[in-house]
Amino acid sequence: MARARYSIFNVVRNALRYHEEWPRAWRSPEPKPRYDVIVVGGGGHGLATAYYLAKEHGVTNMAVLEKGWLGGGNIGRNTTIIRSDYLMDESIALYDKSLQLWPGLSADLNFNTMFSARGVMKLIHTRAGEAEATQRMAAMRLSGLEIERLDPAGVKAMVPMLDCSPSAPHAILGATLQRRGGIARHDAVAWGYARGADARGVDIIQNCEVTGFRIEGGRVLGVETTRGYIGAGKVGMVPAGHSGVLAAKAGFRLPIESVTMQAMISEPLKPLLDTVVMTPTLVSMSQSDKGELVVGMSVEPYNSYTQRGSLPHLEYIAGRMVELYPVLSRVGMLRNWGGTLDVTTDASPIMGRTPVDGLYMNCGWGSGGFKSVPGSGWVFAHCMAQERTHAMAAPFGLERFASGALVDEHRAAGSYESY
Ligand code: FAD
Repeated sequence: MARARYSIFNVVRNALRYHEEWPRAWRSPEPKPRYDVIVVGGGGHGLATAYYLAKEHGVTNMAVLEKGWLGGGNIGRNTTIIRSDYLMDESIALYDKSLQLWPGLSADLNFNTMFSARGVMKLIHTRAGEAEATQRMAAMRLSGLEIERLDPAGVKAMVPMLDCSPSAPHAILGATLQRRGGIARHDAVAWGYARGADARGVDIIQNCEVTGFRIEGGRVLGVETTRGYIGAGKVGMVPAGHSGVLAAKAGFRLPIESVTMQAMISEPLKPLLDTVVMTPTLVSMSQSDKGELVVGMSVEPYNSYTQRGSLPHLEYIAGRMVELYPVLSRVGMLRNWGGTLDVTTDASPIMGRTPVDGLYMNCGWGSGGFKSVPGSGWVFAHCMAQERTHAMAAPFGLERFASGALVDEHRAAGSYESY
């Protein structure tokens, strides 16, 4: 049905009607008194979870509760870098599951997510960086995945505007390159999953904040919301930057900090960058299809729930950007914004059961949660539907912080330093 409603004929018909009568992409229903499953958080991970629960596991009596509007959280605020070049086998498997889903996502959702596998280059500036790159490449190859090493000439050939000279303020010793990585259109991902879930019967309820949980005998019975109590068989919490806040309402603590990360875009320019460039501790850059340079920054050095960063950090990053790309010194920046990241102590996500029966959690994606949306939604939906942890999610349980079996991705995820 969705395919028929949103066909090319629909596009033409609406063009002739001056785009005034587009149908709503998803319904706006009143909450029912009870659902089999409630997903808290209408970001990328929440919507993907709902979509795969409906599509792969036939769960349709389900609601996604979002306190604001769809796309108002990090899913609509990120710089859309997609890659799977992590350090630990467990992370590589999970992030690569996602990377495998990206190329077919537009067809699956019948919604153009504008995924573009233009390669992700990670610059190497120091000897320590070289050691990290060598280790990461070895881990990738042991997992059977391709990753290339570029020398400075190879970097310069791909990105001529980078200052690779011997006197450059940031010495460029080379780079790693994952050609399957790239970017996609973030809000299209949210809308595509929302429409796909809605078409399968999922109620997407915006402006509905979860304010508490009703728990009896150690089992969750439902959620208290700004629109009243809603009962549920199972609840999945996917609130990103507010994970710690919600966990506290359910009576447990998470090893998570919330921090602000900001980004900015330039005025549209002619094509000058056809790959993604990341540089540890500083900035990332890609060029959007509209021609804007999309610039991601390291996180602010303090905890916060605000969705805006500080001017000094913006100024600092802009300075480093010009040192790396001197040719951009007079490019006008159009706007900047921020989002609230949830970062765990090992820079890896938390996925699976919580101390409360029937209450599941998927959070802690920090600065790596856009690339993982399809894989995370797919795996988390499996965990919730089957009531057993999927093998890919097993290393990411909350219990690892008690057992000490951490999945330390600080150097590859680098939430506190880079992307
Ligand atoms: P969100 O979109 O934040 O969704 C969570 C939702 O939960 C929100 O909409 C929120 O309103 C809702 N919510 C919270 N509390 C409640 C409640 N009590 N009741 C109901 N709803 C609630 N990742 C990458 O992989 N690549 C990148 O290049 C990248 N760049 C980034 C750049 C910036 C500036 C930022 C801020 C993030 C970046 N990220 C990147 C990280 C990525 O955006 C996040 O990890 C990911 O989007 C988080 O998952 P989400 O989409 O589900 O979060």
